[in-house]
Amino acid sequence: MTRRLALQGDLLDFTDTPALDDATSPAVRYRPGHWLLIGDDGRIAGVQTEAPDASWPREQHPGRLILPGFIDTHVHSAQVDVLGAYGTALLDWLERHTFPAESRMADAAHAAHISALFLDGLLAAGTTAAMVFPTVHKASVDALFNAAEARGMRLIGGKVLMDRHAPDFLRDDVAQAERDCVDLIARWHGRDRIAYAVTPRFAPTSTEAQLAMAGALMAATPGLYMQTHVAENTDEVRWVSQLFPQARSYLDVYRHYGLLGPRAMLAHGIWLDADDRALLAAHGATIAHCPSSNLFLGSGLFDWAATRAAGAAVTMGTDVGGGTSLSMPRTLADAYKVQAMANRRVTAWALLHAATRGAAEALHLGHEIGSLEPGAHADIVVWDRAASPVEARRQSVARDLHDAVFAWLTLGDERHVVSTRVAGVERHRRGAFSAEPNDLC
Ligand SMILES: [Zn+2]
Repeated sequence: MTRRLALQGDLLDFTDTPALDDATSPAVRYRPGHWLLIGDDGRIAGVQTEAPDASWPREQHPGRLILPGFIDTHVHSAQVDVLGAYGTALLDWLERHTFPAESRMADAAHAAHISALFLDGLLAAGTTAAMVFPTVHKASVDALFNAAEARGMRLIGGKVLMDRHAPDFLRDDVAQAERDCVDLIARWHGRDRIAYAVTPRFAPTSTEAQLAMAGALMAATPGLYMQTHVAENTDEVRWVSQLFPQARSYLDVYRHYGLLGPRAMLAHGIWLDADDRALLAAHGATIAHCPSSNLFLGSGLFDWAATRAAGAAVTMGTDVGGGTSLSMPRTLADAYKVQAMANRRVTAWALLHAATRGAAEALHLGHEIGSLEPGAHADIVVWDRAASPVEARRQSVARDLHDAVFAWLTLGDERHVVSTRVAGVERHRRGAFSAEPNDLC
């Protein structure tokens, strides 16, 4: 399989972290009509203004944007089955919709089918790397990692830990969970582009003994990630304060068990206070902001500016199925609207950075993903700027680069993805799909 290719288009990435509100940020690197060279090793070999010599296979995309693949830092593979499920807030939503869907992942064949569907959905949305919750079942982790390996994707995930406050069919116990984690870490952590994340679902569904076990795993194996949820919903926060009365706050529970660190990714973080934000920053932990999910479940409005001002990193998660789309542009558009509700404005640059270079750096993977730097893996997406005559008209009257890119981002989704490459190999090309029949309606 040859990967050598010269791609021409309008290259867009970041050399630094833009301010949230600076539309003329010098951190933006826009190189229109440039050639991006992909080497046979699947890495970016260079970027240049001149066409390469005739030995290079070429693909030209005049007027199209070429970006690093998006990085989704919080999403659930099994929850494609509950996308757009009506009528509940977090705790009811888990009981009524999510736990039944997750129970089906015990079956290896089902888990393989859903994992493939899920990753192909990410690729079709222009997302090439992700930090993923599969389910409590070991089979769901193997299925996810097998599917990622087959696609060459950078993927971080791990068995969900839940030994209380969950239905019988989804509960593990400390000893079995530890055995499963140790086995999965040995098999997968550091294999190809896969890394393991110790994954307590959230504080209410793990006993103190299980959280302590999770912390011990983190201490025992350098390079492991940790992912969980924190302070998503006010009922949830109240519940945690009852379950852990000795903790200063919800976030402090994770600190107590050794789960906060520079490789910790905590979804939501809506109901945190200033001490919590300082704690995040002191430990180098990251908040995965999930605006689509927060709006859909009515969880609340995340304070991006305060989190950033405290020195904590903020990345983006679609949080499907609480979130309603695997599309990062749709998620970023929601992030803009969440900040607008607090009378703040966030630029396209800050939004795109959080889903590319910013996420890569938060995951300590800046050398591999998130930019168009030579040496990085060629995880590359070609985007149409418009998917309809109305959008094309809007682009034609854009006042400047930020106006054009912001309008594209706000209106964009899977329809705008022309081609998605992972380590130089095309894994998605826009085309037709056929819907599965539904016998019920
Ligand atoms: Zn989630």
